[in-house]
Order: sequence, then C-alpha cells, then structure tokens
Amino acid sequence: MYDRNNIFYKILHGEIPSKKVFENDVALAFYDINPVCKVHVLVICKRECRNLEEFVQGSSAEEVKAYFETLTKVAEDVLGLGRSGYRVLTNTGRDAGQEVEHFHMHILGGESLKGVL
Ligand code: AMP
Repeated sequence: MYDRNNIFYKILHGEIPSKKVFENDVALAFYDINPVCKVHVLVICKRECRNLEEFVQGSSAEEVKAYFETLTKVAEDVLGLGRSGYRVLTNTGRDAGQEVEHFHMHILGGESLKGVL
C-alpha cells in the first residue's frame, strides 16, 4: 500500500521545499539533497506508486512513455548531459537500499561515474 507519509509526497504537494529543475503533468524533477556526483537529480512520478513495478502496472502505455520522455528531456535538454553522458537508475526494495517509497529515478552525471554506484 502506498503511504502518503513519505518525503516525496510532501515535496510533490508543496509541504517541503525542493530545488526544482523541471515539472510537467507526469513528473517533478529536483536536485538530490545528498548528491553522490556533480549532477544528481531525482525525477519523481506524480502518480501515487511505490516503485517501478507499481508505476508500470498502474499506468497506461502513454503515461509510461510520457514519464520516460520526461526523464530523457530532463537529462538531455534541461541538464545538458547528452554530450558528456549520464546514468539513470531506480532502487526497489531493501536489497537495493530504497529509502523513499515513492517511485523515482536518479539522473547522475556531470563527471566521470566510474566508481559511483
Ligand atoms: P532511493 O534510495 O532511491 O530511495 O533514493 C532516495 C534519495 O532521495 C536519496 O538519494 C536521498 O538523498 C534523496 N532525498 C531524501 N530526502 C530528500 C529531500 N528532502 N530532497 C531531495 N532529495 C532527498
């Protein structure tokens, strides 16, 4: 069950501030508060779901496409990482170390990511 008592729900609803990068109907992108590399941005979906599996199962094909188009638009156009390169990842569950149970993907870049997990 999705629990609204999570930090990204609060950011999405303006209850907690964030350093916003981009927003549209499907997603909100903002800088990670604890960056692991020079550019570390989170792209959270607007739908209430805990992880990738719930997002894909609970969304239409158009919504999934719109989310991933937003993800690449933020990485390539907004952050300008297309030329130098970047990594995207999502954590699901305990073994992945997922901290916040609201589906999001990390965009990592701005420097060599060798050694950055
Ligand atoms: P994950 O382990 O994939 O759930 O990642 C959660 C990420 O959220 C971590 O990289 C945290 O540094 C980041 N984070 C936690 N709280 C905030 C916040 N208030 N603003 C921005 N990023 C946050």
